[in-house]
Amino acid sequence: MSVRTGESVFDWIDTRAEARAKAGLARRVRPRPADSTDLDLASNDYLGLARDKRVTGAAAAATLRWGAGSTGSRLVTGSTELHTELEYELANFCGAQSALVFSSGYLANLAALTALSGPGTAIVADQHIHASLIDGTKLSKADVVVAGHCDVPQVTHALATRGKRRALVVTDSVFSVDGDLAPLAELSAVCREHDAALIVDDAHGLGVVGDGGRGAVHAAGLAKAPDVVTTVTLSKSLGAQGGAVLGSGRVIRHLVDTARTFIFDTGLAPASVAASLAALRILREEPERPARALDVAQDLAFRLKEKGFLVSTPTAAVVSIQAPSPEAAFAWAEACRTQGVVVGCFRPPSVPDRISRLRLTARADLSDGEIERAVRVITETGASAGAVSRRP
Ligand code: PMP
Repeated sequence: MSVRTGESVFDWIDTRAEARAKAGLARRVRPRPADSTDLDLASNDYLGLARDKRVTGAAAAATLRWGAGSTGSRLVTGSTELHTELEYELANFCGAQSALVFSSGYLANLAALTALSGPGTAIVADQHIHASLIDGTKLSKADVVVAGHCDVPQVTHALATRGKRRALVVTDSVFSVDGDLAPLAELSAVCREHDAALIVDDAHGLGVVGDGGRGAVHAAGLAKAPDVVTTVTLSKSLGAQGGAVLGSGRVIRHLVDTARTFIFDTGLAPASVAASLAALRILREEPERPARALDVAQDLAFRLKEKGFLVSTPTAAVVSIQAPSPEAAFAWAEACRTQGVVVGCFRPPSVPDRISRLRLTARADLSDGEIERAVRVITETGASAGAVSRRP
């Protein structure tokens, strides 16, 4: 027999589920069939490497050699020679002094923020940073100031008025919703002037932006800056899984000693490490891939703008199209799917400004015919979703 003293957790979640369903915000997990013939414009496999035989072959060979899992945390048994090799090659490719691999980009972000700040630190964060960075700021227990999107004067003001506290400025390089680029060089100059560190999440920049896909931090000439710390994911352009922090030797040593998501998490699986290494080597040998991914994104955006949609201006592989409402975005994405074109659908709370969007990701391996088909399907279905804003 139970004595009721308050609301049950399960009644509370049911009420919330009903509210989400009413607002058109219910989410659904959809298993992807292995033999799908759908046109993929939703994944983060920007360079088409996730299924490249050299990448999958390296993953399979590493599994046979090292085992299915890494068997322990990085400081116990979870660091193989492959992990060290990947850290060396990743740092080298991105032009950084050192790198540290984590089992996801999410955990790399939590590590960078929690290990480099704490109570008494001032964190100045762009309004549109990724959820994993937001969670890192919360876990860090630092004082957080949210600055306007890409608003360098606001960042400057926050740093100038912070008093004696240590300070970190946090930003994405390429923002995940609209694919726009942060003013990294200006932010870095302001940070230097005010003795603050800059943390940049280059998840969407690595493999697409800059010389041979070395990322937005490298492109801004900041890869070796001692006061800049970069985080990346191995799960987008490299087609694998995992994450990393790139920075000076002293930052990386500090993370090894103090970052809880490094110390208390099982090391990245050998298959993912080997896949990332193979992808990185392909990127070195085939530097035309990043440029092609960017071309495809710009081509998609140009053609969809011509049809009258409100489309972002891509600086990397992400292209987003505004939808009139969450319900319309969902219906639009569903209609595309019915016609064999899979697109992302971003609705609150995954959009910082509450504007729902279709989110397309370009891939270096998309053919011209596939791009044409995508534009045709998105245009036809968009008209019925009420998404076209006809220009006068
Ligand atoms: N940062 C950004 C900007 C991202 O888009 C993502 C992935 N959605 C992450 C971090 C997290 O990376 P991972 O998926 O490797 O955890």
